[in-house]
Amino acid sequence: MNEIEQRLQELDELGLSRRLRMVSGPQGPRVVLDGKPVLLLCSNNYLGLADHPRVREAAAEAAMRWGVSAGASRLVSGTMTIHHRLEQRLAAFGRCEECVLFGSGYLANAGAIGALAGRGDAVFSDELNHASIVDGCRLSRAQVLVYRHRDTDHLDWLLRRHGGDGRRLIVTDSVFSMDGDLAPLLEIVELAREHGARTIVDEAHAIGMLGPGGRGAIAQADLEGEIDIVIGTLGKALGSYGAYACARGETIRYLINTARPLIFSTAPPPPAIAGALAALELLGERPHRVQRLRSNARVLRRALSAEDVPAGDSEMHIVPLIVGEEQATMSLCETVLRRGVFAQGIRPPTVAPGTSRLRLAVMASHTADELREAARAIGAAARELNLDLASAQSRGSEFAPDEGVLGDLERQVSTLAPAGSSDPSSVESERGDSSPLKVPFDGERDLVIHRAA
Ligand code: PMP
Repeated sequence: MNEIEQRLQELDELGLSRRLRMVSGPQGPRVVLDGKPVLLLCSNNYLGLADHPRVREAAAEAAMRWGVSAGASRLVSGTMTIHHRLEQRLAAFGRCEECVLFGSGYLANAGAIGALAGRGDAVFSDELNHASIVDGCRLSRAQVLVYRHRDTDHLDWLLRRHGGDGRRLIVTDSVFSMDGDLAPLLEIVELAREHGARTIVDEAHAIGMLGPGGRGAIAQADLEGEIDIVIGTLGKALGSYGAYACARGETIRYLINTARPLIFSTAPPPPAIAGALAALELLGERPHRVQRLRSNARVLRRALSAEDVPAGDSEMHIVPLIVGEEQATMSLCETVLRRGVFAQGIRPPTVAPGTSRLRLAVMASHTADELREAARAIGAAARELNLDLASAQSRGSEFAPDEGVLGDLERQVSTLAPAGSSDPSSVESERGDSSPLKVPFDGERDLVIHRAA
């Protein structure tokens, strides 16, 4: 057996192997999945704009007018007016001076972090930040200090101890992609000010969903203009593909000169840009979609509670149903699927070991009846499998991150001492005893699985 076969077998045995499921047609509320019609409850097409006729038409027209490819990096073959138009609209939408597009959210995070931090600098990163932030931190070659999820005391503690003479950067998701909870943005901005750090906030799961007019979590917290770089994606609420950074004019000029994924990668395709422009227009014209998303999230949560499935009491559009163990999570996913609902199981390395879950994502285009139907299917499947989701949920929320998901962020985790502790290295040595089995993977985070001693 060669190394690749061995790895695949290992993933199978650990209940961690993945496969691509075939979807026929667009990411609407109902799709045909592997030949079977199901309700789609795990797409980031939150506002239902990816399949909206006006968005489709705009993309099709742009393909005819501009062609399909942007041809090269915009710094090489020139920028198309349509890209510039979207940047202007996004800057106005985000109430910032300027905006620049990237090929994707992954590239935008990698580019922005790499521009603001390098060797000799320090990046302070929430432990549940998205993989693109984790990878951006790694690529930057800065020292990376991971703080406990949403724990600003720990962040403060780290800021006091690290950073030296180099630049300092705090980076966080605003809405965390697998939990749907919010970063403490006001405290982060205050700490950044106090400690002379810059900030990057990734609004991937907030733009179009939160704040006045769907302007995001930063607008909701009344912090527009207070963040150094705001990252948004076009691939979620804005129904398209690509991403952008909003910032002051000089910061955008700096990104254009230093952000490698922008300099060395082909600009996003004109049809995607035109689609996002149409989506942004629709969001402006019909902000009720944002309310609809919120009320749909409430409907789903209530219906889940009625089925004794714990769904938390937040109003967020991402509803994590923590199961715990990987195999049990996938059994629930398959059982729910047999009952006509597709809610993907999310396992390590995307989430910490022991906190595998179904990540339910509500769309504004779901009807209330569809969401009730989904909750009934999930409740029935959980009963069929005898799963105690209430206990799993509370275990998941007690999850101690230094044991799992952070694993081996190239020893970055050595900083994960409790706030107030003077000896962060104690955490590292405990971990060193646990004989980790490293599973390099193309998922969202690296992972160290701790074998039982
Ligand atoms: N940031 C977050 C928080 C995300 O969830 C994602 C995608 N899942 C990205 C960035 C990457 O965005 P894109 O899909 O546009 O690369």
